[in-house]
Amino acid sequence: MILKIVKYPDPVLQQPGEPVTEFNAELRKLAADMFETMYAENGAGLAAQQVGIAKRLAVIDVTGGKDASQKLVVVNPEIISREGKVYETEGCLSFPDIIEKVVRAAEVRIRAQDLDGKWFEMDGADLLARCFQHEIDHLDGMLFIFRMSALKRDLVQRKIRKLQRAGEW
Ligand SMILES: [Zn+2]
Repeated sequence: MILKIVKYPDPVLQQPGEPVTEFNAELRKLAADMFETMYAENGAGLAAQQVGIAKRLAVIDVTGGKDASQKLVVVNPEIISREGKVYETEGCLSFPDIIEKVVRAAEVRIRAQDLDGKWFEMDGADLLARCFQHEIDHLDGMLFIFRMSALKRDLVQRKIRKLQRAGEW
């Protein structure tokens, strides 16, 4: 089932997620629906807050559905190490058509649970590292516009207000 994606400035996007404690059929269904929603919008990652649920769960697929083995669900994830720095463009399904450069670590190692509640650790570089950081930020209620310079953030927020007034946001 395709879910409705919540757009900025909906307050749920800035609400830190509650840890997931029950690894049941409902959680599996939510993850499956989040993948379907993400693929429908050509995204590489989607956090639960983006479908209006403040829980620490995100789905990621840097191949955009081209390689099923790359589908990844991270439950209660945290970054345990970071290396390097990159300044690259980034987008977010809660900010349609807004693409801006954001500073991120070049490589990260995360620790997370899978849908069975089993803990695992995983290294990410390039786009996967960026996705890990972007999605884990979402789970903390942090949005990529707050990782931009104040000047850029101001421009983006002005653009959004203009689109809102025109009924296009
Ligand atoms: Zn996002």
